[in-house]
Amino acid sequence: MQLSYELKTLRLLHPFILSDSRIETKDVIIIRFEHEGITGIGESSPSRYYGEPPASVLECLGKAADLLGQFKDPSSIEDIMRLLLQHFPENSSARSGIDMALHDWVGKKSQLPLYKFFKLDRARTPFTSFTIGIDELSVIEQKIREAESYPILKIKLGVGEQDFEIITAIRKVTDKILRVDVNEGWNKEEAAIKIDWLAGQGVELIEQPLPKKNYDGMIWLKQRSKLPLFADESVKTNEDISALQECFHGINIKLDKCGGLLEAVKMIKTARKHELKIMLGCMIQTVIGTTAAAHISPLADFADLDGHLLTSDHSFQGMEIKNGKIILNDKYGIGILE
Ligand SMILES: [Mg+2]
Repeated sequence: MQLSYELKTLRLLHPFILSDSRIETKDVIIIRFEHEGITGIGESSPSRYYGEPPASVLECLGKAADLLGQFKDPSSIEDIMRLLLQHFPENSSARSGIDMALHDWVGKKSQLPLYKFFKLDRARTPFTSFTIGIDELSVIEQKIREAESYPILKIKLGVGEQDFEIITAIRKVTDKILRVDVNEGWNKEEAAIKIDWLAGQGVELIEQPLPKKNYDGMIWLKQRSKLPLFADESVKTNEDISALQECFHGINIKLDKCGGLLEAVKMIKTARKHELKIMLGCMIQTVIGTTAAAHISPLADFADLDGHLLTSDHSFQGMEIKNGKIILNDKYGIGILE
């Protein structure tokens, strides 16, 4: 078994401005896993927010390459990922990239597209939202025009009084379904007022309104919110889920946060037990990572798998998005063409 990897810097089509940061490029790591003449491909799109700078992914992959030598059969993904979790508990994104490459390999080896490997129906993929980042109002209007073919928009808010101006400006140019992602940018009283107002603006759901550890605030907010509330920063792995039932109506699962497809499928089962809705999200990344997630998207209620559409990179081909609908091809594994 041989693991190789390369750092790739993606350029964003628009600088990405969140309530607390602004980025123009995104570093990802493309991972290849070769065994018996078959190469599986995966991607790690790490985030400093979750304590994982790209350098730590590269370091982790270097060490993981040695550990993988212990295994004879790449299809024992559970065993491999358990060992990697023991050694690299803080490197969920690096582990996710390896998990993805292993799944791609197994899909190719067994001649199954991943959705079939997971016994899912690709006709049941959801529509994805398209993200509109915080910006000047004129730029936001331009972005809305560029997003013409996407029926659902995810609007980033969390910038004080400007939140009202942004939604008002958007509503002048489109009546599409809006989802709002606050990235922890509100306090609870502000959230209550804004959610009341947004409920009358055709907004479908609110993601991460309060700081991630403000559980008491979230319990208070959930009791009075007119819109469903989704956890993103508050939820990383399966272990986080049970504490969130009182706080949220749903959770946003991302491969780079949780450590890969295996953990994501476990999280979906746990969330269902706790009567939480499922959103499947992504990082800013190439189509490798978003397509891997798309294979399990028939299990989700909502998809936000637009990360590759926000960059100028076209090195890979994978899933397509037609008028917002996720379309998986029937190639083996993840179905990536280079
Ligand atoms: Mg989010």
